Amino acid sequence: MTKIAINKLVRENVVGLQPYASARDEYVSDGSEMVFLDANENPFENGVNRYPDPQQRGLKAMVATQKGIAPNAILFGNGSDEVLDLIFRAFCEPKVDNVISLPPTYGMYKVLSGINGVENREVILTEDFEPNVEEILKRADANSKILFLCSPNNPTANSFSRDRILKLLEEFKGLVVVDEAYIDFSKEESWLGELKNYNNLIVTQTLSKAYGMAGIRLGICFASEEIIAVLNKIKPPYNVNELTQERALERVLNTDKVKLEVIAILKERAILSKALVELSFVLKVYKTDANFILAKVDNAHKRYQQLLERGIVVRNRTSQPLCENTLRFTVGTKEENEKLIQVLKEMTI
Ligand SMILES: *Cc1c(COP(=O)(O)O)cnc(C)c1O
Repeated sequence: MTKIAINKLVRENVVGLQPYASARDEYVSDGSEMVFLDANENPFENGVNRYPDPQQRGLKAMVATQKGIAPNAILFGNGSDEVLDLIFRAFCEPKVDNVISLPPTYGMYKVLSGINGVENREVILTEDFEPNVEEILKRADANSKILFLCSPNNPTANSFSRDRILKLLEEFKGLVVVDEAYIDFSKEESWLGELKNYNNLIVTQTLSKAYGMAGIRLGICFASEEIIAVLNKIKPPYNVNELTQERALERVLNTDKVKLEVIAILKERAILSKALVELSFVLKVYKTDANFILAKVDNAHKRYQQLLERGIVVRNRTSQPLCENTLRFTVGTKEENEKLIQVLKEMTI
């Protein structure tokens, strides 16, 4: 169990910042019939003529209930990409601070560190795709503000061992972000349950994968109320638009449908994994805890091109460390996977 002085991690300019006070923040409606002449909106109703709720209270209350997390320990963003960017901007001083990421992993940590002028220290995963705890702690210094742990990890598809993550939570002196974009496909438990024990833990989730809503852009950040308060200070006031809030609420109110889709994807994942194993040019199919499969082939470039010529787009991950000659296959519908398997069987030379 750790208690980190979060206020000491926040950038100086953010500590002293007065956030923008929007009209919708200043007067919070209690639902009674009020006349809103405060935000220079067009008064003619069309469903979206009003500014959206900057705190997304309806959606947040629902997610809070479902996840068992207090609403003020939740922040929504325009995709998890915005959430991750906000964490950088709140805590990392450009040219001074650094973050640690663990390739092969999600590309946005590196991109965001580049955009924000923050050094990205890369500590390659071990051969079995686990965090190299000793090396991470060795590379960390007093300016290491964030450690990114993607679990289940993209593109390797495995979840990191619980013990290793715990050790990092105990020992790392900055924020530990556990990116759970694929948690709904995993047999491992979410790290949300550990938020009460670690005030430097941030868990990010998204509606882009299991919830099937990549198009609306909704990322979710769960953390201590102290961290969420800092992020709220710097977020753009209307970062989650009205249409997104409405569609997201509809979807989270219907988690039974989401669960059925996840079950279908997991069933298809097993079928696809098995089919891949049987192909002569597939050398290894990695264990997966996500909605995609990483497989090592004889020649990733050649196989990628062959699939393209037959109308199937996968991801070639060969340039990533530890991923030489690997392809990443997203699990599609039954029909899509059948087509993929058929095509793969035809390209054995
Ligand atoms: C797909 C993915 C996301 C999702 O990002 P959004 O901006 O919410 O769509 C986040 N993290 C990882 C590791 C991903 O693979």
